[in-house]
Amino acid sequence: MSLIAERLQSVQQRIASACAECHRDPRQVTLLAVSKTKPIADIEAAYAQGQRQFGENYVQEGAEKILALERLVDIEWHFIGPLQSNKTKLVATHFDWMHSLDRLKIAARLAEQRGFHQAPLNVLIQVNIDDEDSKAGIAADDVLPFAEQISSYPRLTLRGLMTIPKAEQPPAKARESLLKMRQLFEQLALVYPQVDTLSMGMSADLELAISCGATMVRIGTDIFGQR
Ligand SMILES: *Cc1c(COP(=O)(O)O)cnc(C)c1O
Repeated sequence: MSLIAERLQSVQQRIASACAECHRDPRQVTLLAVSKTKPIADIEAAYAQGQRQFGENYVQEGAEKILALERLVDIEWHFIGPLQSNKTKLVATHFDWMHSLDRLKIAARLAEQRGFHQAPLNVLIQVNIDDEDSKAGIAADDVLPFAEQISSYPRLTLRGLMTIPKAEQPPAKARESLLKMRQLFEQLALVYPQVDTLSMGMSADLELAISCGATMVRIGTDIFGQR
């Protein structure tokens, strides 16, 4: 078994135990393998092990990998990084999901550029849950009005919320933020029936995020190794 296969299996086991711990069905949690900066061979190794959802942070790098792996038709590609408005076309053209939506201008461009032969682009609204100056995402209070604006674009399907909580805060604080995300997510799902995705949890806080209701965890380091 390759190292990536072993690590992938161990992350799957962590997800299963975390779900068992809080009485959740592990099928409710999707593992997104974050392959940013990693070579195509690493993605192929994870694919060979059954992994189908992959996340990329850098739009140019992501688009190149997607083209190089076009023959693996059942991969689902997620864009999870910051996006400049002059790069939206690459996301609209190549990706299936966009996790980091936080500006109306970007939403409008993605909607306009999404091909009509393609399925609508699945989008998540990024929330700056700890109100950090340095971090992307919209404020918790703005989620519902922003969602209303996004939902008017037929070429985008609003699927839920994404967050990157503040690094290095006490566990109780981190938990509070993640629970706030869950509450926002549940409010949103009441208004929009297609909302089913709460993207939070990375290598370091996977278990905590699952216990707080994450439905998608984004794992890079613990699958592909240090970057
Ligand atoms: C890099 C990255 C991840 C993965 O982080 P790891 O700590 O390597 O698991 C998840 N989400 C986003 C938005 C990232 O940029």
